[in-house]
Amino acid sequence: MKVLVANLGSTSFKYRLFDMTDETVLARGGVERIGSPKSRCFVEVARQRTEAEVLAPDHAAAVRLCLQQLTDHGCLRDPGELSAIGFKAVHAQGISGVQRVDERVLAAMEAYNDVAPAHNPPYVQAMRLLHEQLPDIPLIAAFETAFHATIAPADRLYAVPWEWAERYGIQRWGFHGASHRYIAERAAQRLGDPEARIISCHLGGSSSLCAIRAGQSLANSLGFSPQSGLPHNNRVGDFDVFALPALLRATGRSLEQVLDDLAQRSGLLGLSGLSNDLRDLEQASARGNSRAHLALEVFAASVRHYLGAYLVRLNGADAIVFTGGIGENSALLRAMICDQLDWFGIALDAEKNRTAQGEVPIHADASRVAIWIMPTNEELIVARQAQEWLNRRGAG
Ligand code: ADP
Repeated sequence: MKVLVANLGSTSFKYRLFDMTDETVLARGGVERIGSPKSRCFVEVARQRTEAEVLAPDHAAAVRLCLQQLTDHGCLRDPGELSAIGFKAVHAQGISGVQRVDERVLAAMEAYNDVAPAHNPPYVQAMRLLHEQLPDIPLIAAFETAFHATIAPADRLYAVPWEWAERYGIQRWGFHGASHRYIAERAAQRLGDPEARIISCHLGGSSSLCAIRAGQSLANSLGFSPQSGLPHNNRVGDFDVFALPALLRATGRSLEQVLDDLAQRSGLLGLSGLSNDLRDLEQASARGNSRAHLALEVFAASVRHYLGAYLVRLNGADAIVFTGGIGENSALLRAMICDQLDWFGIALDAEKNRTAQGEVPIHADASRVAIWIMPTNEELIVARQAQEWLNRRGAG
């Protein structure tokens, strides 16, 4: 069974092709700058990368190009060999879990375009095109909220009028489900303890912490929308909504404009005024840029806030796991986050942290809590979920 897992941006389509008989990645690739006269297509098979300029006016054209390339490279006999295309879908009104993409699912995602403005519109647009143009290949959406279905009401509910939650679904949904699910499974395996209490720290362009016990999500720092929780690259994180009327009055901007500021010009970018990329902020901070340094401090403080909350939620922890572009690569941020937590039995080994590469423990010998770096593998989780969906359908 071969499954393609798609990762969509507004002008990009990236994929990994899995052979689910042994979960190997047969190829990875994609098309960038979709819609521009000079789109670029790349493919990597057996560590050999080839790149070419192509014409890809829309996502459907990009997918067809990639499928052609995969057949040319012998990864697929023909596109019909593909059992499914899987998507790490973010949010839909009234829908979670693993779903075949149809009009009902698309309409539910579209209804939340303004709740997940960076994520839903490109997915809906591309899925709609693919749905129309490749009707024989099942498109499977694995929603990011699904892993968090185990969060109890006490950790899920906002203190708002009761019917808001009941009728309108205004509650903490939690996101990054594919990544936290992967970490939950992988960490339990590496610790040799299926009951383990794990605090999964997915720190990247979007960031969230997740409290996990026995493989289940008990709390996630992301709430109703992917703009909540920790500060993100250019999205706000937790924010008091009663600042909104004051802001609207002071700036004369409309609610839509202010929401756009919160979703596009906030987070690390808003704080630093410099960049949404942590590497730039680390370099600027090292050169003495105080706002870049402050952005790092605000980010680390927010991670520590949720870390503390989840240590309480889990009554301690067996492991803290860092993942995502920042979690896997920034020794500085990991050190700032784990600074002076010895009372909790949490101690980094400075040298292991500095030189870490790949999946490794980085705690000091004396640390009661294990600290790991684990590169996440969200695509594998989506491929497995698509495979399970296909198997269920086959069985049913
Ligand atoms: P996304 O959430 O979009 O998938 P990633 O998980 O790839 O994003 O994370 C992107 C973030 O990771 C960026 O802020 C980037 O600066 C940061 N990052 C990537 N590599 C490094 C590195 N070597 N050092 C510090 N930060 C890094």
